[in-house]
Amino acid sequence: MSDRKPFIAGNWKMNNTIAESEELIQALLPLVGAVEDVDIVVAPPFLALQAIVDSARGSAVGVYAQNMAEKDAGACTGEVSGPMLAEIDVHGVILGHSERRQLFGETDRLLQLKVPKALEFGLIPILCVGETEEERERGDTERKLRHQVQEGLEKVPLERLHEVVVAYEPIWAIGTGLTATPEQAQDAVAFVRALVQGFDKEAGNRVRVLYGGSMKAENAADLLAQPDIDGGLIGGASLDAESFAAIVEAAR
Ligand code: PEP
Repeated sequence: MSDRKPFIAGNWKMNNTIAESEELIQALLPLVGAVEDVDIVVAPPFLALQAIVDSARGSAVGVYAQNMAEKDAGACTGEVSGPMLAEIDVHGVILGHSERRQLFGETDRLLQLKVPKALEFGLIPILCVGETEEERERGDTERKLRHQVQEGLEKVPLERLHEVVVAYEPIWAIGTGLTATPEQAQDAVAFVRALVQGFDKEAGNRVRVLYGGSMKAENAADLLAQPDIDGGLIGGASLDAESFAAIVEAAR
């Protein structure tokens, strides 16, 4: 049993209008709003952030954005910056989700700027990493993870490295219903932790590493029982309050 606090995050992606987001948080708060032994996070779409920050204020549920620009301000049409998120009391931000990488061309070089930028504005970054099915079959999983973790964390000040959360999300398991086996997930998460230890041993021991990829109430306990898996990043199952609450319960 590690002394790292479990961390369960729900990524709502491009789902839920402001009204629907409000409905979901109102269903979720009575179920998990008082839980103190798990860090619980929801990441609504940008337009719903302010409403959900206000609704969750004073509860155990933290509110994260799903993306953030690498710059503070300027000519970046359509982007949202760290100071803008901090101004409305957002607590953190998911960075480098595979959908951002695949659909919007985000690179490890860009994430190298975004991760320390989030910390600069008091936002906890969740850096997402993971291999495609093809890369796994070629035996390239570790090579891919090494590149993503080392590039993504390179500019984080060592004394703040332990604040970062890393999510191992095999792309072949995201939204597909295919879940990594607990052993596959443990191996990859332990490898990610070793990479962070390569920067700083103590930070690597303290950093929370999550698993993401079709995690749901039925498989959460087996995944979360693995020694290096400190929690989950949950897509589909986070859109249902009872399912998400059941995953939080499995993490306790
Ligand atoms: C995700 O998008 O980060 C994710 C893990 O999605 P799902 O749980 O739906 O696979």
